[in-house]
Amino acid sequence: MAVLHNRVSQKELKKLLYQETEPRTTISFYQYAKIEDTKSFRDELYKNLNELKVFGRIYIAYEGINAQLSVPSANFETLKNYLWSVSFLKGVRFNVAIDDDGKSFWVLKIKVRHKIVADGINDPDFDMSKKGKYVDAVQFNSLTNDADTIVVDMRNHYEYEVGHFENAIEIPSDTFREQLPMAVNMLQNEKDKNIIMYCTGGIRCEKASAYMLYNGFKNVFHLEGGIIHYVNTAKEKNLSNKFKGKNFVFDDRLGEKISDEVISKCHQCGKLCDEHTNCANDGCHLLFIQCEECAKKYSDCCSEECQSIYNMPEGEQKEIRKGKMNGIMIFNKSRHRLRPKLNNF
Ligand SMILES: [Zn+2]
Ligand SMILES: [Zn+2]
Repeated sequence: MAVLHNRVSQKELKKLLYQETEPRTTISFYQYAKIEDTKSFRDELYKNLNELKVFGRIYIAYEGINAQLSVPSANFETLKNYLWSVSFLKGVRFNVAIDDDGKSFWVLKIKVRHKIVADGINDPDFDMSKKGKYVDAVQFNSLTNDADTIVVDMRNHYEYEVGHFENAIEIPSDTFREQLPMAVNMLQNEKDKNIIMYCTGGIRCEKASAYMLYNGFKNVFHLEGGIIHYVNTAKEKNLSNKFKGKNFVFDDRLGEKISDEVISKCHQCGKLCDEHTNCANDGCHLLFIQCEECAKKYSDCCSEECQSIYNMPEGEQKEIRKGKMNGIMIFNKSRHRLRPKLNNF
C-alpha cells in the first residue's frame, strides 16, 4: 500500500532537511473550486507530492485547496506540470517566495478541512464564484493614486504592524471571521468608493471581496496573488513599490524583507525593529517583536516574569506550566491581548 502519511519523528525529519544539500524552492498557491470527494483527492495528491519529495502544509476543503510547500528545485517543473494536469488547477499561479533558504518545511502534511479559510459564513447563498475584480500590480498602483480608492488590509494585526501598503487601513480583529462583518461595518458609508482588498497570497482577500459584493458593495477589487505576487511583479517590471516594510509569512522564517524600511518597533524598548520571535518560556511562547539588545537583556523572553521562569530548572518550569493552557496558538494573539504584558508601543 502506498504511504499516505509520514512515519518519521518531527525531530528526525528536521535533521534530515538540514543535512540536505539539494536546493529547494518555497511556493504557495490556492484555488477556490468545488471539490466533491475531498478525501480521495487528498490521498491522490499526497501520493504524487510525496514522490516529488515535496514538504509543506496543504489544506483541502469542499471550497478548494490552499498549499504552502517546498520542492527540490530540480522537481519544480514536474510538480507544476502535475498540478496543472488536475482539472481545477489548470494554470493556477504559484507564488514563489523571495528571500528564501528553502528550509521552510520538513514534512508533508495534507489535511481535509471544512473550509480552506475559516470565515464563519453559513449562508448557502454566499457564492465564491461572485468575487471582486482582480487587479495586478500596475492596476493596483494606478487605482491607488485615485482619491476615491480605499485600500484594505485583510491580514492580522501582527502582520500589518511590520509591513503594509501605503495608506492601507487595518481591520482590527484577531480572526478573519470577525474581520469580514467588521470590514462591512467600517466601510458602510463608502459603498460608492473603490475598495481594494489585499492579503499575503490573495486567498483571504479573494473571499473578502466576494463577501463585500454579497453585502451590497459595488466596486470591489482584490490584489491578484497578494503581496507576494505584487512585489515580484513590481521588481520585474520596475514599478514603484507601494508596500512598506516586511511581509510576514507563516513558516520558519517569520517574514521576508521587501524594503529596507523598518516600520515597527521593539515591544520592549520601542526601538525600530521588525523581528518577530516567540517567547523562550515554553509556558508562554508569545509571538512578539524583540530587538537584539532586549533579546539579550530578557534571555529571549517577553517579560521579566517569563525570564525568571525560563531560568528555573526544567522540573520547576513544568510545575508552573501544569494546569495552564498548553500549546497556545500564538499566531492568533492580538495587540489587545499583548497589551497587558508588553509595553505600549
Ligand atoms: Zn528592544
Ligand atoms: Zn513570555
